[in-house]
Amino acid sequence: MLGKVKGFSADQVIEEFEALTKDAERVQRDTLQRILQDNEEAEYLQKLGLGGRTDPHSFKSLVPLVTHKELEPYIQRIVDGEAYPILTGKPITSISLSSGTTQGKPKFVPFNEDLVLVTMQIYKTSFAFRNRAYPLRDGKALQFIYSSKQFKTKGGLTATTATTNVYRSEQFKRTMSDIHSQCCSPDEVIFSPDYHQSLYCHLLCGLIFSEEVQLVFSTFAHSIVLAFRTFEQVWEELCSDIREGVLSSRITIPAIRVAVSRLLRPNPELANSIYSKCVRLSSWYGVIPEIWPNAKYVYGIMTGSMEPYLNKLRHYAGSLPLMSADYGASEGWIGANIEPDLQPEAASFAVLPNIGYFEFIPLRERAESQEHRRDLMNHREQEPIGLTEVEVGEEYEIIITTFAGLYRYRLGDVVRVTGFHNSTPKLRFVHRKGLILSVNIDKNTEKDLQLAVEEAGKLLAAEKLEVLDFSSHVDMSTNPGHYVIFLELSDAAGEGVLSSCSDCLDRAFVDPGYVGSRKVRAIAPLELRVVRRGTFRKIMDHYLSLGAAMSQYKTPHCVGASNGRVLQILNGNVQNSYFSAAYD
Ligand code: AMP
Repeated sequence: MLGKVKGFSADQVIEEFEALTKDAERVQRDTLQRILQDNEEAEYLQKLGLGGRTDPHSFKSLVPLVTHKELEPYIQRIVDGEAYPILTGKPITSISLSSGTTQGKPKFVPFNEDLVLVTMQIYKTSFAFRNRAYPLRDGKALQFIYSSKQFKTKGGLTATTATTNVYRSEQFKRTMSDIHSQCCSPDEVIFSPDYHQSLYCHLLCGLIFSEEVQLVFSTFAHSIVLAFRTFEQVWEELCSDIREGVLSSRITIPAIRVAVSRLLRPNPELANSIYSKCVRLSSWYGVIPEIWPNAKYVYGIMTGSMEPYLNKLRHYAGSLPLMSADYGASEGWIGANIEPDLQPEAASFAVLPNIGYFEFIPLRERAESQEHRRDLMNHREQEPIGLTEVEVGEEYEIIITTFAGLYRYRLGDVVRVTGFHNSTPKLRFVHRKGLILSVNIDKNTEKDLQLAVEEAGKLLAAEKLEVLDFSSHVDMSTNPGHYVIFLELSDAAGEGVLSSCSDCLDRAFVDPGYVGSRKVRAIAPLELRVVRRGTFRKIMDHYLSLGAAMSQYKTPHCVGASNGRVLQILNGNVQNSYFSAAYD
């Protein structure tokens, strides 16, 4: 028995999930029907001539595959306040800003109550499975969550990030309480306009409630690592606040000062205990279980572009398990992690068949049929297939249709099917479609880049140096073009080790297209550019200034030529550069 708490039953959630996934094909058909019926009035669907038809065949033959670009004019009209049902039957009341890591600027996407409900279903589903393995008692969560800037569009809609839209909802608070994940910090900290002040206060509130904390969470692993890197800098100040019962003068926002001061009392005993634990730690290894002895695990998205932060996260988490959170986007959710015992690197996400309609474009070249040869010659991509038609081991581009006005929308992610749970597939995130380093016939994904940086990281670790963050760029201004890898290091490194790193990075890209091109000099030697400490903070600040939220922030690991400002920040902070001699 998993226990029933305040109207939330993990058993029931799992039962419902089992029922949905046993009959995924029918649930998908019903879901599509509901989406199309709810939005029958929408101009977008009317124009396509569905005429009330809701079956998958009519849907696929009449509704085109689209990217955000094609929907932009429709979304813009919603943003500008046009009242007519444009993409959805019911009016859209909020707009979400996606983090925009790939394009360099946030995208506007419609947001509605249905997305809140779907978010809660995802949270509850993965919690139910997690709780079976690691039951939580009543308690709190040290959550590093942040809102983003909010503004009113010309048409009077609230525009902010999807996570902020969710945090603002009443449903969110109720669900967090149901799943024992109530944030230690008051709302004023979450909704602060300054993330530095929020982060400090999240840490402080986490310390005040250190005995009650059951888990440590952030949406993406990067924010947890950033939080503990900050803890290393400010722990003495935090102890002093607790000792004196007076909030640091670095907190200047009156609403936060009032809300956090309410929780602070002079508590020399707690301050001394934290202080002595911190001084006993070696290089902050295991700081989380040491200071939060009742925490059961660390939770957040740890897959995809978050994998490079896992080493550091494991260092801070010591003996505590890391559990990777679910898979979704500002546009909509896809799947829940129902196997919490798997290491984050192996995590996959079981698709919930009632939260949207899902299609998959196969990326593997099919058996050599006539039709396939024609497709290849015409550079035509293969037809999308349905949720239950995907095959284990294959890779697909994912297409979503949501309750919030996106129809056959190319999310831009590539996933691999790792297996099935009943009849719904489990997906592993592979990479974002656009994030590929390529000069000519070479193709390297973000994952390939991560592996290359890990190899170089081993050389640096031998010198007690750490890669704090990294990015890359294909420089076509040289002839031939070449890869540029930017590294920010924990400390100054010698010329020798950096030269070896540039060779090592070059050799670590093992894609035959790359190796072949390097050997015949069709790609010039890889260049390592070492950037100053703080460069990646500047990049994050740049994204936050555009409206991104810390909660959804992802370092852009591949920067295209169109992302001029980020390239400028990277190039403006280069200390040294080294060309590889690996293929000389
Ligand atoms: P955003 O809308 O800004 O939050 O970004 C959504 C994107 O983040 C997705 O399209 C994925 O590329 C990535 N993402 C979200 N969840 C995961 C996950 N669990 N694993 C890997 N990548 C993820």
